[in-house]
Amino acid sequence: MARYAGPKCKLCRRAGIKLYLKGERCYTPKCQMEPSRHPSPPGERGTRRRKLSEYAVRLLEKQKARHAYGVLERQFRKHFEEAQRRPGATGENFLQILETRLDNVVFRLGLADSRTQARQIVRHGHLAVNGRKCDIPSALVRPGDVVRVRETSLRRPYFSELAQSLQRRSIPAWLDLDARAMAGRILSMPARTDIDTDVNEQLIVEYYSR
Ligand code: SF4
Repeated sequence: MARYAGPKCKLCRRAGIKLYLKGERCYTPKCQMEPSRHPSPPGERGTRRRKLSEYAVRLLEKQKARHAYGVLERQFRKHFEEAQRRPGATGENFLQILETRLDNVVFRLGLADSRTQARQIVRHGHLAVNGRKCDIPSALVRPGDVVRVRETSLRRPYFSELAQSLQRRSIPAWLDLDARAMAGRILSMPARTDIDTDVNEQLIVEYYSR
């Protein structure tokens, strides 16, 4: 499966915010977006922020969300089209779809430090949704679904070590975690207030509607 393999911190510097793409490191002073490191946009002229055109502002917002969720353009657009088909506000639908991707749910449950790692866990077949193995990171979950680490994977060192720290993680209100069983239940669709991703979804709608 194709994925972005370039420097991740550069994406944060371009977006101007932390996108949390490197797991633990993003919470340490080593993060390039820490104020003490005087973050600037990438490139030779990066120290100066030009005035952006309306199009550039919308493009930047779309790219910010795409990189935050680690989705390539084609899949991102497919999710947007799905959001348009659903009743209600397209922008909110779109964020709900991104949040309910299986890789994002694994990240939100604390089973992975970053969405990149979450995707790898899914791709390697360590998870089951409603009792059936699922290795598709873009699969969408719904309220009532149960995502759990498969029996055969629980004995792996990664999951044994994770079991120690999992109980201390805080998770969003729309999810419920049974840390001992390493299983999460989707309680409801996430409301906009449950989603802490720093993006303006209206600008993304405007970008795709141009
Ligand atoms: Fe790099 Fe993470 Fe900091 Fe972004 S948030 S600059 S990925 S360390």
